[in-house]
Amino acid sequence: MEKVYNFKWDHLGDLSVGRPNLGKETSVMVYRLMQYTFKDVFSKEIGKQKTIELFVKAGALAGKEFCRNVLDISLPFDEFIAELKEKLVAFKIGILRIEEADKKKLQFVLTVSEDLDCSGLPIFGESVCNYDEGFIAGILKEYTGKKFTAKEIDCWATGDRTCRFEVKAIEG
Ligand SMILES: [Zn+2]
Repeated sequence: MEKVYNFKWDHLGDLSVGRPNLGKETSVMVYRLMQYTFKDVFSKEIGKQKTIELFVKAGALAGKEFCRNVLDISLPFDEFIAELKEKLVAFKIGILRIEEADKKKLQFVLTVSEDLDCSGLPIFGESVCNYDEGFIAGILKEYTGKKFTAKEIDCWATGDRTCRFEVKAIEG
């Protein structure tokens, strides 16, 4: 047995062969059931802060691979964002809007409505979309070649009706 997992896009499998009757779709409930039971178990094993860090990291890996396999990084910025919006809807991840954009500094405020991870959740008083934070940062890193941070400042779970992220390029 290998000591680590190395994710590759083709590990997602051939769904047309593997699920001829059930197909590609599942329910949001099932997705959330996995995500929030992971969080429960991981946080009890390794602590909440470390769990959050790992969710951000895993989200960033997902964003990188999503960008490589689903998006066209040769597009100019505005068209790239338009395609990203389209794909996020097509895959039912959420509805992306760019509220503020400083393309020179690579700083953005963006919102994701009807977010897959949190929309409709109880109000926990803290944002929960750590995986999304990584996902957004991972996509932008893959597209620009620069490191990004994405911080969720509003979330359904904080009582807001959309998720809002402050996103910026960082040095290094
Ligand atoms: Zn959220």
